[in-house]
Amino acid sequence: MNPIVTISGGGIIGNYISSRLKKNNIESVIVEKSKNQKLSRENIRTLTLNSFSKKLLDDIGIKIPFAPIKEISVFDGDGSGSIHFSSKEINEENLSYVVFFNDLQQKLQDQDEHQTFFENQIEDIIQDNEKNYSEIKLSSKDTIKTKFVAGCDGRNSNVAKIAELNEKKSSYNQTAITFTASCETKDAYLAHQIFSEKGIFAIMPLPQNDKKSTHTIVWSVENNNLLDTSIEDYVNDNIAYFEQKLSTLIRIDSAILSFELFSHHFENYISGNVVLVGDAAHSIHPLAGQGINLGFADADALCEEIISSYEKSMHIDQTLTLKRYEIRRKNMNLLMLKSMDFFVNLFGSKNLYVKLLRNLGLSGVNKTEFLKKFFINHAAGKNKI
Ligand SMILES: Cc1cc2nc3c(=O)[nH]c(=O)nc-3n(C[C@H](O)[C@H](O)[C@H](O)COP(=O)(O)OP(=O)(O)OC[C@H]3O[C@@H](n4cnc5c(N)ncnc54)[C@H](O)[C@@H]3O)c2cc1C
Repeated sequence: MNPIVTISGGGIIGNYISSRLKKNNIESVIVEKSKNQKLSRENIRTLTLNSFSKKLLDDIGIKIPFAPIKEISVFDGDGSGSIHFSSKEINEENLSYVVFFNDLQQKLQDQDEHQTFFENQIEDIIQDNEKNYSEIKLSSKDTIKTKFVAGCDGRNSNVAKIAELNEKKSSYNQTAITFTASCETKDAYLAHQIFSEKGIFAIMPLPQNDKKSTHTIVWSVENNNLLDTSIEDYVNDNIAYFEQKLSTLIRIDSAILSFELFSHHFENYISGNVVLVGDAAHSIHPLAGQGINLGFADADALCEEIISSYEKSMHIDQTLTLKRYEIRRKNMNLLMLKSMDFFVNLFGSKNLYVKLLRNLGLSGVNKTEFLKKFFINHAAGKNKI
């Protein structure tokens, strides 16, 4: 088997890359660690796509239910600072689109006949620089000869380990909690984000679903607050605070999922013809819902570079092709990572002066048209991130 690209990881980003390359007649195979199984019908986890990611999906024919967000209200639960973003301010119909994770993953998986080796993983990559390809050994003992190896295998990338790439990793000392809920709100297109000592609480509208839940909640909590209590008890004991802030009852109607939060970033995304993409290369705090959008921007840049190399020449310099991808993506991702770290530290601080400054800062940005537009354009994906 001699595909042009071998993709480690059949998640959202791995499957997207495979579909996009297929539409451009470039053959790929996916090596996926887990079983080939239909994802659970219980939709709990969500993703917030920006308009750039949504366009990439539209372009390859992916259609799934979504809930548009037209306005976002951000406020400091422990102070008075607030900021309000509206799609009208950037002449767009919507700011972002909430989708169910399982819907998107399943649709991408089903859409093209991806050639996927399930319950398998890459054990070794032997690069032959003279012959311009790599030989890949799988745990099933199959071998693949390939031009590019794309690591799309998430936060603990196996490909990154085999390629011995250097990682910088740090814990946020926080846990993200997510569940679906029903609540009565006047505006179906409005999302709220509250920064408080009880955590960073985001509540966003949901696409139509069997359970008729109306909202998704992504709530990041300091691990210190969870030392003497279970996650379920923490949620039940503290949700009233946010009900009061939002003047609505919130009825939890799904299981409560939780994820340990850390950030990581690789110093280099490439080694020879091996490349890291999406969460394999970087992961960030979910507070701005940008994780998957960075992954889509990576995937788009990588596909563009591979497709353009194939259009231009029969003899491809893989390292040069991948270097162009790395130059386009690494600094943009690092900037987003650092910005998220700044916000997490700013809102995690108990220092009185920092609290005062962030209240003044939020309200100040709200009044400054230029800064506001800058933030909204980035969040909505109008400036390519
Ligand atoms: C609580 C929470 C909320 C989030 N909310 C948002 C949001 O609102 N908006 C947003 O943009 N992002 C959000 N994110 C981030 C987002 O979920 C990730 O950025 C995204 O899922 C990354 O996609 P990926 O395909 O790169 O990696 P993954 O989704 O991690 O997929 C990796 C794939 O590789 C497979 N794999 C793993 N190891 C191997 C191996 N050794 N060999 C072969 N295959 C392997 C896995 O089984 C999986 O299929 C959130 C994250 C969390 C934790």
